[in-house]
Amino acid sequence: MNKELANFIRELKKDFKPKKTDITTPVSCWFEKDLLNDKVVDAFVIIFKTRGCSWALESGCSMCGYFNDSLWSDVSDKELLQQFESALKRYKGEKFVKIFTSGSFLDDNEINPIVREKILKKLYETAEKVSVESRPEYITNKSLEKIKKIVGLKIFEIGIGLETADDDIRENNINKGFTFNDYKKATDIMKKNNIKIKTYVLVKPPFLSEKHAINDAIRTIEKIKNITDIVSLNPVNAQNNTLVNYLWKREQYRSPWLFSIVQILVEGKKILDDKRIKCDIVGGGSIRGAHNCGECDKNYLQAISDFSLKQDTRVFNNLKCSCSEKWLDQLDLEDLGFGSLAKMYE
Ligand code: SF4
Ligand SMILES: [Zn+2]
Repeated sequence: MNKELANFIRELKKDFKPKKTDITTPVSCWFEKDLLNDKVVDAFVIIFKTRGCSWALESGCSMCGYFNDSLWSDVSDKELLQQFESALKRYKGEKFVKIFTSGSFLDDNEINPIVREKILKKLYETAEKVSVESRPEYITNKSLEKIKKIVGLKIFEIGIGLETADDDIRENNINKGFTFNDYKKATDIMKKNNIKIKTYVLVKPPFLSEKHAINDAIRTIEKIKNITDIVSLNPVNAQNNTLVNYLWKREQYRSPWLFSIVQILVEGKKILDDKRIKCDIVGGGSIRGAHNCGECDKNYLQAISDFSLKQDTRVFNNLKCSCSEKWLDQLDLEDLGFGSLAKMYE
């Protein structure tokens, strides 16, 4: 572990106070389009309020501000189930349900296995597919044993935030706290248990130039193409109380250009072939999130979201904006500027 980085990230959270909030309702729930067995369907999404990601409570990842929505104190089983009941009032029997906890669904410290099982049992009465997220250390034969029985012949997917296949970047730029090998072990277990693997790839960790970030994401996709079932790109945005936000405020970080994301999607699709690659952009088009010049952002965001469903790179064919000159300049010059040029490329 890079102790200096871990300490600095911990220090940035020192004065953070969790919001006062109703513990019996989820952070939010909504509907969004996604694919289920190659068909576009409405998926139901729930974000639970939990005590938070165990790793974030210890130090956390350099770009992750999920803890801003966490409670930082224990949530009882009863309260978690109340959150679930509250979400179910909006549930209309969608066949695809996505659960987020701003941490790991399989971490017993966040969600008691009994609660986990109750939630899944209820959802699988109607759902064909449930998708959750977890760090690799919680993905074990033991933690999957009961889940597998509940899932039966339906689909269960776990998303893992690998971020990059490069152990050095994961340790020194992200402070992720696990290795590629840990990811590999977890995915081996998932394969044996017939569980779908979604891998999150981070676009532009801090301290990387735009060009390096594009190359890193493409190399990562190449390395995991035979492991994962789906790749989900995660462009970094500056979230409060994070290292990325600290750098962004000091003009030492710029979130990725939408051009970079398009390039990774196009290259990634060539590598992955039939496997799906998608990108949901949080804060896209804003100064804190992935953006271009402001004029063309809407069109690019729409195309990225269309591509994520259709998997057809032709959606990018007719897009053009003169700000691509600035992006190309950055790709050429930034590595020579030792990171001092972030302001120029806003
Ligand atoms: S990115 Fe994931 S593992 Fe890292 S701190 Fe956030 S929730 Fe935890
Ligand atoms: Zn533009």
